[in-house]
Amino acid sequence: MAGHEFSYKCKHCAFEEYFKQGHGYLVRPQSFQEYKNTNQKLFHYEIHNKIVRLYLTHPDLTINATFQVYKCPKCNILHDKVQVTLTEGDKSLHTNRFKCNRCKSRLKLTNIHRLKKARCPVCGKISYQRQKMQVRLWQS
Ligand SMILES: [Zn+2]
Ligand SMILES: [Zn+2]
Repeated sequence: MAGHEFSYKCKHCAFEEYFKQGHGYLVRPQSFQEYKNTNQKLFHYEIHNKIVRLYLTHPDLTINATFQVYKCPKCNILHDKVQVTLTEGDKSLHTNRFKCNRCKSRLKLTNIHRLKKARCPVCGKISYQRQKMQVRLWQS
């Protein structure tokens, strides 16, 4: 399985970062059994504990994991995170949320295809831009 990787580069200080979006080899929709069998600490311990707890009352839950890009509404800094949505049938049980490590605001899921500029995490200027033709396929 493969997702996309986007490059963002600062026009001011030339700092460059890659953001993943989509599914990977382990980060993908899976059942509790599949998740348990991978035997890896795939997610943050809080979401891991949530999965284990919800499984007791929702044995058919699906763990929908996807690499997503989030943006802090205050700092305008981008963050690459694994979004985990726990569902049972059509019902959504839980979605993990993230806080900005600088200002503690709740991060917003971003449509990276529409996002043109963001703040550079190194120099702080709004000159962080997605590079054209830098979409790479990756596996993990
Ligand atoms: Zn922030
Ligand atoms: Zn910069």
